[in-house]
Amino acid sequence: MQKNKRMCSRCVLDTTVPEIKFDDKGACNYCKIHDELEKKYPNDKNGQKKLREIVEKIKRDGKNKKYDCIIGVSGGRDSTYTLYMAKKLGLRPLAVHFDNGWNSEIAVNNIKNITNKLGIDLYTHVADWEEFKDLQISFLKASVPDAEVPTDYAIISVLYKLAAQEGVNYFIVGHSFRTEGTSPIGWTYMDGRYIKNIHKTFGKIKSIKSFPILSATEIAYYTFIKKIREVRILEYMDYNRKEVNALLERQFDWKYYGGHHHESIYTQFFQSYYLIKKFNIDKRKKDYSAMVRSGQMNRKEAIKLINKPYPVDEQIVNYTINKLGLSKAEFEKIMQEQPKSFQDYPNYYNYIQTFKFPIKIGCKLNLFPKILELKYLN
Ligand SMILES: [Zn+2]
Repeated sequence: MQKNKRMCSRCVLDTTVPEIKFDDKGACNYCKIHDELEKKYPNDKNGQKKLREIVEKIKRDGKNKKYDCIIGVSGGRDSTYTLYMAKKLGLRPLAVHFDNGWNSEIAVNNIKNITNKLGIDLYTHVADWEEFKDLQISFLKASVPDAEVPTDYAIISVLYKLAAQEGVNYFIVGHSFRTEGTSPIGWTYMDGRYIKNIHKTFGKIKSIKSFPILSATEIAYYTFIKKIREVRILEYMDYNRKEVNALLERQFDWKYYGGHHHESIYTQFFQSYYLIKKFNIDKRKKDYSAMVRSGQMNRKEAIKLINKPYPVDEQIVNYTINKLGLSKAEFEKIMQEQPKSFQDYPNYYNYIQTFKFPIKIGCKLNLFPKILELKYLN
């Protein structure tokens, strides 16, 4: 454990976040981001009005099309609830699942149940296992804490591509800053250039063909030419995890998998073992901080919970190493390697800083999510 660890006076993030800053009241920059997001995405009457306007626009733009929006689903709580709410609001979504080979059975059943019961079409994009494995191992060998971004970024890439293919202008992601918070950059950084470079340096397979990893130019093409927008409907809602769990279990036979994002076996290994042991990063701090800020958890309770060790399932760790085809020695070497950060590899971070003003304007015009500005440009 780090010595002289300092914790935010409002949430439970601390100096294990490399870029954390505190104001004169001792509150951190991620609490400040939360307050900015509260202004942009209110969940009161104002928020309801904003959401109604967004939904009406999605319906108008989707008229005479088979679907009016695309929703990424993982089988987890947030995306399942997003699908449910989208249908309730009268949208006509196509559900999209990215299968990277790590789904738990619970997640697969959750997806099947909800799409069947709501009568929503499901498209599953299956990544070639050898390719995906090669990319995952590359990230482990690169010794960065971003070993889960291949999945996160591939999902976004698939959503853009599919939206363009279906002629749909909106994809909806089930994210809420009130329950998930914002991932600190030093804990999770992703962009297409970064991912491609890591793969080029450490991968064995030359190029990935079974799933897209979009470059900035491609994202610009989908944003400005194809006019595809990311929408986060949960951010306008009074979204309470406990209540949502109960509703999904009752109505859709939905099952909880025991930890945030543990619907994927790799994520479970990654959060409970890899990040903690190698980088001293405990992602529970991000989630609990979000819930403390939004009044869904008491700060004392959150501190008590993070002081307990993150539960590790040795079987999951062994299963992961075996499935990746790594020998014990290879895995040990990965664990012993000096930790690095995204800044040790080529990426778009400096470009984002250079294009600060156009990006800020883009966020104002809702071309990009506000978080892009708050997270990368402050
Ligand atoms: Zn804070």
